[in-house]
Amino acid sequence: MKLVLASQNQRKIREMREILSGLSVDMLLPSEAGVHIETEETGSTFAENALLKASAVMRASGKPAVADDSGLAVDALNGGPGIYTARYGGEGLSDEARWKLLLENMRGQTRRTCRFISSIVCCFPNGDTLTAEGVCEGMVAFAPQGTGGFGYDPVFYLPARRKTMAQLSPEEKNQISHRGKALRLFAEKLRSYQEMHKNA
Ligand code: IMP
Repeated sequence: MKLVLASQNQRKIREMREILSGLSVDMLLPSEAGVHIETEETGSTFAENALLKASAVMRASGKPAVADDSGLAVDALNGGPGIYTARYGGEGLSDEARWKLLLENMRGQTRRTCRFISSIVCCFPNGDTLTAEGVCEGMVAFAPQGTGGFGYDPVFYLPARRKTMAQLSPEEKNQISHRGKALRLFAEKLRSYQEMHKNA
């Protein structure tokens, strides 16, 4: 089966490839499937946005497409930035500028619990969809640490490991991350789906 990874984020794509590498699927970038579209994320949940991205790429390519929509929900910010995580502080900011803004907005705040959430949706040309969600609990750090990962990883603190997400190796991150959990669940569902449709 050919599966288009409906994302432009190279680091997300790398994580998806690593975690789905055990499946018997041929993973394509949108450009390799002849797709050059940008989908507006107008949904009100991570799952709705993932569905918008996956279905747009599936329709444009004619092939099954999988998308992730993810973000950070901070309790002291009433679950924000949530679906606006990628746009936190406005368009065109660097990852570093966004997590600096988060630290700024959390200044003086002792309640620092938060979670990364990843919603995966895979759309098939026959109308079928598979969905999976993963959550990783953590705390907003008081200062950045580490250089690995991407996005908000330097300020996402994991109390049990006494490290931020950016201090983990890629393998360690995949084991515990929201996207790792969601993609492994998705991989199981896709395996069953392929099994069910083998003789169809
Ligand atoms: P999306 O591309 O619309 O799903 O936006 C995801 C947003 O959440 C981006 O701003 C990312 O930086 C952030 N994000 C998602 N996953 C991670 C992660 O694993 N580490 C750090 N930031 C993440």
